[in-house]
Amino acid sequence: MAIENANRNEQEAQSIDVAEDSRELDWKSKSFMGSMFMGELDMELAYPYPEQSAEDKAEGDELLARIDAWANDAIDGDQIDRDEEIPAHVFKGLADLGLFGIKIPKKYGGLGMSQTNYMRILGHFCRYHCGSVGATLSAHQSIGIPQPLKLFGTEEQKKKFLPRIARGEISAFGLTEPQVGSDPANLATHAELNEAGTHWVLNGEKLWCTNGVIADLFVVMARTPDKVIKGKPRKQITAFIVEGKWDGVDVLHRSKFMGIRAIENGVIRFTDVQVPVDHVIAGEGRGLKLALTTLNDGRLGIPAICAETTKGLVEFSARWAKTRHQWGKHIGEHEAGADKLARMAAGAYAMETLAFFGGALSDAGGRDLRMEAATAKMFNSELISELGDLGLQFRGGRGYEQEASLKRRGEHAEPIERGVRDARINRIVEGTTDIMHLFLAREALDPHLKVAAPLFGRASAGVKFKTLLACAAKYATWYPKLWLGGLFRWFGDFDGRLRGHLRWVDARTRKLARTLFHQMILQGPKLEMRQLILARVVDIGAELAVMALVASRVQTELKNGDTTNVGRGLYWLKSRRVVVDRMFEDISSNCDADARKLAAELMLSAEALEDLPKPDLSPLPREYGSDLTSGRQTVRASQMRQQDDAAAK
Ligand SMILES: Cc1cc2nc3c(=O)[nH]c(=O)nc-3n(C[C@H](O)[C@H](O)[C@H](O)COP(=O)(O)OP(=O)(O)OC[C@H]3O[C@@H](n4cnc5c(N)ncnc54)[C@H](O)[C@@H]3O)c2cc1C
Repeated sequence: MAIENANRNEQEAQSIDVAEDSRELDWKSKSFMGSMFMGELDMELAYPYPEQSAEDKAEGDELLARIDAWANDAIDGDQIDRDEEIPAHVFKGLADLGLFGIKIPKKYGGLGMSQTNYMRILGHFCRYHCGSVGATLSAHQSIGIPQPLKLFGTEEQKKKFLPRIARGEISAFGLTEPQVGSDPANLATHAELNEAGTHWVLNGEKLWCTNGVIADLFVVMARTPDKVIKGKPRKQITAFIVEGKWDGVDVLHRSKFMGIRAIENGVIRFTDVQVPVDHVIAGEGRGLKLALTTLNDGRLGIPAICAETTKGLVEFSARWAKTRHQWGKHIGEHEAGADKLARMAAGAYAMETLAFFGGALSDAGGRDLRMEAATAKMFNSELISELGDLGLQFRGGRGYEQEASLKRRGEHAEPIERGVRDARINRIVEGTTDIMHLFLAREALDPHLKVAAPLFGRASAGVKFKTLLACAAKYATWYPKLWLGGLFRWFGDFDGRLRGHLRWVDARTRKLARTLFHQMILQGPKLEMRQLILARVVDIGAELAVMALVASRVQTELKNGDTTNVGRGLYWLKSRRVVVDRMFEDISSNCDADARKLAAELMLSAEALEDLPKPDLSPLPREYGSDLTSGRQTVRASQMRQQDDAAAK
């Protein structure tokens, strides 16, 4: 149950209704992270750290070796970045290796691989070969057609589309529109059933649709007529499978970006597109729920990419640390350099630990991984921005210089400049960090809302009284445990060096739950508006979860006789304590109100941007993914450049 909040405006209330209707409710398993926000550090859910089975790992290793054997010659990440185009022979090579159907079951022609291997492959591409290729594969498989169909498609839909995709047809996901980014409640793209009831007629425009410029198939989110639910009209969002070649599907523009410059991303217009009724996925009105469920696994691609590329940065930085000599020492021997190296190495280990914990939950099946996946996306995309910048700084001027330029001067050409540009998008796509904070805060508050929501809303006095009694019963036993619960926790299964850290995490986990509870009482329904407080609570939860997982992984590795990562793990555990304690302090002592006041003043005196006249964009020539995978040469980037030049004149 959600809070009914009188402070919301109507549009906000509608957005929240749509988000609430799309929440997943039917998880049966206990959530590791969800428990932490209730004050419980349940190490049984995290220890031993889940390891990939030998058989599954061997399958992944074998494919990675084949990828390298091909890609080491076939893919030039720097050239692709400069050309802003993935050449046709690369698409063909990807298709030949089956990489458009990594997780598609074998019976539909895919590789049938695990989530963990899928994540390893994406990370590997971005670390060793090319971020744009990694992003293309990720958009196609994390949010494009394969995953929603695998999860929600009918058998007919699976038989019809999955083999095509496994062979190399490319898919795209269209949710974002010019006026709709983080808030899908106000989608303008709409579909109406025709009179015969055979087709939906789709109209609208999608922005920034990755792969959309070349896609054979799209998942398009569109509004369908409202339905009355519990006496209230509710907006409906439905997911449609749309063929790129159908009449009325046009590419209007190919967007250019700071990084991942070769992705085929653009503005797609749908004009009276006739979509057969059997192209609806998961049923009418279930589009957003489908997108959110798909993203549980889908969101794990980004954190894996972040972890793997940061590992690459660490490996290179360690070599650079003992190569570059300034002021009489290797730069890794200066204390400031050592600090950077340690932070990068420990951070990469933490990122990998978090991402692949999510991967293991997904592979185990039936486990509630909503919070772990969203946390991994949020945490790793933020951390790679920090550590990528650190790595660039550690490399000095060479970090800022482009790869080709370094090469031309005869220097080692690690693509740090490109890597930093490519990584920046991860904080924006698949839910911005702000939206991940809101999503996680909602889930963190859920156990409280289940009992206490009527107290915050417009319920009758009788209902409020009943709720008060239910709360008294629940909190009378729960709350004292938050103070006393950890007195005798010893973590006897763990190495002595980890035990103290785990006891600390345990104590802070209970403090986290107390803090959230106190804030609920202090702020009441206004807590929903205190985004910065909620974000700190969520960030603390994320930090504590990562610490617990790092301790679990170090211990698991120690048990296996592997001491490689002990230093990284212990450094992480020690160094993050300060970060967590500072966040706790910031909850009670901050400048949030001052920021609100200053922003309001600024907005009062600023003029809103005026609408510019909308250019009448004519459809661009297109080549489809299936054309590309057949190996035909393409001139699409140069065609686009000519169009851009013409527009600029
Ligand atoms: C390279 C690239 C690839 C993309 N690929 C795809 C794709 O394949 N398919 C697709 O559908 N979309 C895609 N997108 C769109 C992407 O998902 C959106 O950019 C993202 O969801 C954010 O939407 P927006 O840019 O409109 O920002 P807005 O929603 O306008 O947000 C602007 C800022 O306000 C913040 N904000 C918004 N709402 C709130 C709130 N309630 N509380 C606090 N802060 C808030 C945001 O965090 C952000 O900082 C892509 C975008 C890019 C740049």
